[in-house]
Amino acid sequence: MTVPVNLLELDKSSMEDFFIAMGEKSFRATQVLKWIYHRGITDFDQMTNLGKDLRLVLQAKARISMPVLADEQQSADGTRKWLVRLHDGNCIETVFIPEDDRGTLCISSQAGCPLDCSFCSTAKQGFNRNLTAGEIIGQVWLANQVLGHFEQRRRIITNIVFMGMGEPLLNYENVIRAIGLMTDHNGFGLARRRITISTSGIVPVMDRLAAETTVSLAVSLQATNNELRNELVPLNRRYPLEKLMAACRRYANSGTDASITMEYVMLNGVNDSPAEARQLVKLLHGIPAKINLIPFNPFPDTVYSRSSPENIEAFRTILMDAGFITITRKPRGDDIDAACGQLAGRVMPRTGRHAAMTTGYAA
Ligand code: SAH
Repeated sequence: MTVPVNLLELDKSSMEDFFIAMGEKSFRATQVLKWIYHRGITDFDQMTNLGKDLRLVLQAKARISMPVLADEQQSADGTRKWLVRLHDGNCIETVFIPEDDRGTLCISSQAGCPLDCSFCSTAKQGFNRNLTAGEIIGQVWLANQVLGHFEQRRRIITNIVFMGMGEPLLNYENVIRAIGLMTDHNGFGLARRRITISTSGIVPVMDRLAAETTVSLAVSLQATNNELRNELVPLNRRYPLEKLMAACRRYANSGTDASITMEYVMLNGVNDSPAEARQLVKLLHGIPAKINLIPFNPFPDTVYSRSSPENIEAFRTILMDAGFITITRKPRGDDIDAACGQLAGRVMPRTGRHAAMTTGYAA
């Protein structure tokens, strides 16, 4: 007996292939996608424009299997954090951040993370595995369901950022497939530029991204010299700043409107001096970059602390004076550990890091 296909794993073209292989017309794919992503329906019986026979066949051959909401926390500032349980018991976290003019969903791409950045709570969880495309798009579906999107039929999630657990460019294929469903008008129909992939700098995959898609890119810079960046982002030993900056330049020249957001976590006494701000200006010379300064968010047993508001402002002024649009990110949801770098989930076992480090960068 064949294992039923989870339709959540299929983007439009693979779902068309699935129906054609069943002897059905390809437009069935559009119908089913609309039920799932426009109406929030996952029960074949309720898909009333599919004939009864087809529904019976689908019940035997397919399923629409969502990850499960295991827990929810709500911050005083309206931020909501969900613990999402995957079929194998791993739990990841997804965060919704409402603002006046937008609603941003921060999603995870891996269970844990292999990169081991010293200032990030997810790193302390170790790494288990990549998420499937269905587990990635499933977070968006679940959030939409909880937020009432399917009932109200209005867009509540307007932006999606891959800034939750994991390194999206180490899970490229599944991330791209899920983005296909986020942007397809039979899926969630979001504009590509409203989706941001954030990376610590997997250089070869950044080139691939530039060639293959037009989503927004954020690069987690964190330091302006290799010695410090090696310490904060161990991936830097593999792809040092010279290579990373060259990749950013190639990315910026790869198409129209390819500006990059540089993320820089503000660590008190570590990377926040005026000299480092000036160094950053030099490093970014000629790159159309916006800069996001992220005040460090603490987690248990960390050795770091947040830079003072005065130091952050002085740092920002130097960048602004040099012509870079620089925004200090407001910590959101930090009372429920939902802010940047605080996502922990429940990763089990946490031992996959070595394998991911030795094989994962080959892409
Ligand atoms: N692996 C990807 C995606 C994770 S996003 C990446 O590195 O970009 C992680 C973002 O959260 C990074 O930009 C980082 O700057 C920020 N971050 C991580 N830990 C943090 C912390 N403790 N406080 C504030 N920001 C943090």
